[in-house]
Amino acid sequence: MNRARLLVFNPVLSVLDYRVPDGMAVEPGSVVIAPLGPRQLLGIVWEPERLPGDAVPEAKLRPLLELLPVPPLPAPLRRLIEWTADYYVAPMNAVARMAIGSMAALRGGGTTTEYRLSGLEPKRLTPQRAAAMDALHGEQASIRELAEYASVSDGVLRGMVSAGLLEPVTVDLDRPYPRARAEHHQPELSEDQQRAATRFVEAVAARTFQPFLLDGVTGSGKTECYFEGIAEALRLDRQVLVLLPEIALTENFLRRFEARFGVPPVLWHSSLKASERRRAWRSIVSGQAQVVVGARSALFLPYRNLGLIVVDEAHEISFKQDDGVRYNARDVAVIRAKFESIPVILASATPALESMQLAEAGVYEKIELPARFGGAELPSITTVDLRTEQPARGKWLSPRLVAEMQERLERGEQSLLFLNRRGYAPLTLCRHCGYRFQCPNCSAWLVEHRFTRRLACHHCGHQTATPEECPECHTPDCLVACGPGVERIADEVTELFPEARVAVVTSDTLNSPEKINAFVAAAEEKLIDVIVGTQLVTKGYHFPDLTLVGVVDADMGLEGGDLRAGERTYQQIAQVAGRAGRGEKPGEVLIQTRHPEAAVIAALAKGDRDAFYSAETEARRDAGAPPFGRWAAIIVSSEDEAEARDAARAIGGARPTVQDVLILGPAPAPLSLLRGRYRYRLLINARRSVQLQDIIREWLGQLNFPQSVRVGVDIDPYSFV
Ligand code: ADP
Ligand code: ZN
Repeated sequence: MNRARLLVFNPVLSVLDYRVPDGMAVEPGSVVIAPLGPRQLLGIVWEPERLPGDAVPEAKLRPLLELLPVPPLPAPLRRLIEWTADYYVAPMNAVARMAIGSMAALRGGGTTTEYRLSGLEPKRLTPQRAAAMDALHGEQASIRELAEYASVSDGVLRGMVSAGLLEPVTVDLDRPYPRARAEHHQPELSEDQQRAATRFVEAVAARTFQPFLLDGVTGSGKTECYFEGIAEALRLDRQVLVLLPEIALTENFLRRFEARFGVPPVLWHSSLKASERRRAWRSIVSGQAQVVVGARSALFLPYRNLGLIVVDEAHEISFKQDDGVRYNARDVAVIRAKFESIPVILASATPALESMQLAEAGVYEKIELPARFGGAELPSITTVDLRTEQPARGKWLSPRLVAEMQERLERGEQSLLFLNRRGYAPLTLCRHCGYRFQCPNCSAWLVEHRFTRRLACHHCGHQTATPEECPECHTPDCLVACGPGVERIADEVTELFPEARVAVVTSDTLNSPEKINAFVAAAEEKLIDVIVGTQLVTKGYHFPDLTLVGVVDADMGLEGGDLRAGERTYQQIAQVAGRAGRGEKPGEVLIQTRHPEAAVIAALAKGDRDAFYSAETEARRDAGAPPFGRWAAIIVSSEDEAEARDAARAIGGARPTVQDVLILGPAPAPLSLLRGRYRYRLLINARRSVQLQDIIREWLGQLNFPQSVRVGVDIDPYSFV
């Protein structure tokens, strides 16, 4: 081939043709550097018939500059990139970007220099150096990364290098990871578990596309079962990808993985150090990385020899990415398995309705684990009607829940209170003039965080110190907190039980692996009596002495009113209930609600999962919602309100009339201002048979917008704000 078509990484251009110079051998998937004007661009060689572009005359072709020393992106991955771009109406280069680790990783292995404290103890230190010395204990990273950890400038650290306080360390980027061993520690499986494990082992060995829905109650040992599938892949020398919904769950997973296979897996997530990222990416590409555990971004990496994909907690909405390429990693994982001809396991105690439907239709093979491992009983669940069993004024815990907690404290057992709201209170206002604290960048209230004495926006991260007086009327000490957050519940617990040891568990308090490990150790050693947490504590944890779960406000999730609210509430409460009674002692769950009769709550209280799924199925069918109908959203935003509105109106004005397609909007989004951008939305509802993507592509393709307007398409949306 002396001519090559490239998919290039450029926001405006995406397809360009080049000449392949003599002596350079490229093939589809090769990663190359090409000239564009005076600049250089990264590109991937693609099959021209699959990537339409304007044919450039032979004479005008410029030569490629360099072939990068990495294996070509394999064909199944190229097909996955095409499929994802097509299905989610996203630019192909934006999807392909997710396959590329970093420029540095492409350039090759070799070595890099990192720095760490040398151990030298100087007599006098500037305050900045002293702060850096404190912050950098046990750290080793590049100057820039260390500067970030320590919150000082690069210059301060360079000075410390010259003074001998920091020493350079040469790091080999291609040093291999230790090998996992399939037979390191094989557990005795129960009969049900063995049946599941055998199916996974067979499917891995068969190496054909086979999606599984591993539907097992909390504590049934789903992890142990899919570990056997992983073991088989290890024996056959194939790679495994395990997707977890959040990095907070990873610590627990790492420990169990290491116990089973002798070494930790390879991690992939957004906060890896640059050198770790390079090493992980290069070993994934070379095939040396055996098992990769990651957040959704690990899905598009160029595995050399993939043999199995596992999506754990597959119902979790965090698998859906809501900016950039808006894709659902759970669904794309199944597609990747199809292109790779391998099995994929979706594991959950509360599968999404969509997954249940596919299992029912026989597309997924359903494997059930109906009982907890080791004979532990599922907890008993009862509701507390907040209309008749009221908490004290200005409090949130009902007398019955308080009494149950008291009993646990007396027996030396643990309680968990669940409220999915970080901070102290979701709204702060001035008692005197009614002033409400709002985010300047978003249409949202600022949430008070008492531990850190700040008001924070949970959408954009804006923060200010909590003021002493009202910024409007200047009355001192007049601010009142409205509604509860976990910190406020923790205060209430401490007031009720001053001797109780209370831990608040949220993404604010457990924001590093060290803190997660410290929390787990403290809970296991029974140094904690009461855990107050958000959805972060609903999954993965196994504390045998935790025997009471209190759901502080079961109605909160139902109020938002989006069409998945019922399902999400069911999943969250079922998951958190699953934390109770995992050891020998039975567990009890109290659900505080004002609507004990609501279908979701009633199904939870009766432990009747089928009732919930059939009620929800009916509701979805009536609404033409997934999996019975399809949704898509168009989100228009601009920093200029009028510009956003005009663009949204132009889209609305050009709406196609198609049978079986209903288009709602444009209307201001519920979050009409987000990170300083004004937002409008259109919602599209269609029959399943409709080619929704084609309609949207054609519709938007004929319109032009100013550069400052962003028009995003969200296929199968989860978020309606
Ligand atoms: P799930 O993910 O289904 O909620 P887990 O995989 O967390 O359940 O298992 C629950 C607990 O039971 C874990 O502590 C796990 O180590 C233990 N367990 C499950 N199966 C076995 C087994 N076959 N042998 C020993 N321990 C097991
Ligand atoms: Zn904000």
